Amino acid sequence: MKKAFIYFFIFVFMCFILPAICTKTTSKEASSEQINNVDTNEKEEVSKNKEYSYNKYGSIKLLHTDTNQVEEIPIDEYLVNVVSGEMPADYDIEALKAQAVVARTYTIYQIINNSSKHENADVCDLSTCCQAWISKENRLSRWDENLRQSNWQKIQDVVNQTKGLVITYNNSPINAFFHSNSGGTTEIPVNVWGGTGYPYLQSVETSGEEGYSQYYSEVEISNNDILKKLKSKYPNIKIDFKNSDDIKIIDYTNSNRVKTIKFGNTQISGVEARTIFGLKSANFEIVKNESSIKFKVKGYGHGVGMSQTGADSLAKSGSNYEEIIKHFYSNVEIKDVNSI
Ligand SMILES: [Zn+2]
Repeated sequence: MKKAFIYFFIFVFMCFILPAICTKTTSKEASSEQINNVDTNEKEEVSKNKEYSYNKYGSIKLLHTDTNQVEEIPIDEYLVNVVSGEMPADYDIEALKAQAVVARTYTIYQIINNSSKHENADVCDLSTCCQAWISKENRLSRWDENLRQSNWQKIQDVVNQTKGLVITYNNSPINAFFHSNSGGTTEIPVNVWGGTGYPYLQSVETSGEEGYSQYYSEVEISNNDILKKLKSKYPNIKIDFKNSDDIKIIDYTNSNRVKTIKFGNTQISGVEARTIFGLKSANFEIVKNESSIKFKVKGYGHGVGMSQTGADSLAKSGSNYEEIIKHFYSNVEIKDVNSI
């Protein structure tokens, strides 16, 4: 009889008391527990994360720009399509997790701070405006058939394993800019868009980016086309291509991108030159030939915030997604969105 009572007590303890003790952790502790368990008990964590529920920002309104339709979908469902559209699935799992947290943060920042950008939607599906969103069908069709299921599963897992996590500064989600390849050093936003900048978006160096195809590119444009492209924006421009001083880089930003470049009687910013000549970044050198100019370009994108190839490079050197995020965004914290 006594034995039966002890068994009964153990049964009650295991079924009711123990789970109650375990769930009494705060949400912050729960998220750091999730982080620590990623490698050791991935399956258990995925099922645990499935139970996560958002107190706010649980669903978003996505504008499909081709049909002009607005679709309301759970945020993490949206993020699977974003991460798979923004980062190659064969990147390291920690880089993909960093991308998932960055994309979630970017989305929630848009909802909080940029609600008037789209009339009836929080975000659209264009990388040039918001973030790239690709339909599952389209995404799968671009992968090798034998990798389709495993790639999709990998992206779903990184989103689920980081459920609810956002990057914060002063307890608010940050404006989490990201780009493809920094060319070795990221840029501050003031040098790209003007304005006052953000304390968490500083210029940082990352090694290993030179190993990616996005690191280096060349564009050669004939003198005639250089003049034509510039004239469409500056009708009064005059360039003497024979004068070696007429086309030259005047100065550079601290991250070594072109700040100002001179074309004859006109000076333009490196960022503007990037747009006019279709360069992959504003980090370029010029080589003048007799009838053309060659732009030798380092990096891909505006250079602000997280570099995706840099994230992959750091992950392959052993950094986890938290370390990657804290490398690219200064003095930030990663928090459960329900706790802020
Ligand atoms: Zn948009």
